[in-house]
Amino acid sequence: IAKVQTIGIAKRYGGTTALEPTELSVQAGEFLTLLGPSGSGKTTMLQMISGLIEPTEGRMEIDGRDVTDVAPGKRDIGLVFQSYALFPHMTVWDNVAYGLRMRRMARRELRVAVDAALTMVRMNEYARRYPRELSGGQQQRVALARCFAYRPSVILLDEPLGALDKKLREHMQGEIRRLHLELGATFIYVTHDQDEALTLSDRICLMNQARVEQIGTPADLYDRP
Ligand code: ADP
Ligand code: ADP
Repeated sequence: IAKVQTIGIAKRYGGTTALEPTELSVQAGEFLTLLGPSGSGKTTMLQMISGLIEPTEGRMEIDGRDVTDVAPGKRDIGLVFQSYALFPHMTVWDNVAYGLRMRRMARRELRVAVDAALTMVRMNEYARRYPRELSGGQQQRVALARCFAYRPSVILLDEPLGALDKKLREHMQGEIRRLHLELGATFIYVTHDQDEALTLSDRICLMNQARVEQIGTPADLYDRP
């Protein structure tokens, strides 16, 4: 688990401001949600935390270490997107193993890591299946396992349930809460769904027009438990 801090981080594309300079401090082990309408800068913020896009200005720290110039793969951060982006020609097991193989993890250690990650998302029985044989919810579980297999200290999730129908989405919200507790990692979650943010979050960061409008617990922001 790790603390994440953005120090005046901002992004501009020519004349367009995707994110105004932002100070955000996410506590180690916290579940923080970026909530706001489309175009408010949520994905931009998440991508800068991941390192996939470079800030126009500002700095990023993880546990007090400046990672502004550290490559995405070396930030101890895991990413899960709305599109599961599984490799269609690989089994579930190989999809989860792929990144660990790229990192040259030893074979025995790799097997343990993949099996543990699949168990965590309750997809062990599907290890030999292919993505096309799975439902959307199952595919998203595999995408989560692929991220968890690394045991990153910080996990970034960009609308991971956005492609699922309402019932499955609600079920997976419960699963994501369970996984947050089980992993003990810091979660930063993007959604435009207020109910989802209220259900999941320790704190919500309300975004609008490329700015953070408010940060607080669900109770602080909505006078709800
Ligand atoms: P959200 O995730 O809240 O929907 P984004 O972070 O994707 O918002 O986008 C914030 C703003 O930045 C939007 O106005 C969007 O059009 C703009 N933007 C994002 N990426 C780019 C880009 N690559 N080039 C130009 N403008 C961009
Ligand atoms: P390698 O040939 O890369 O050394 P292994 O001998 O560990 O890999 O496994 C060969 C293949 O068997 C893997 O690519 C994977 O498809 C499959 N496999 C290994 N372990 C499991 C498992 N626990 N469950 C399902 N499939 C597995």
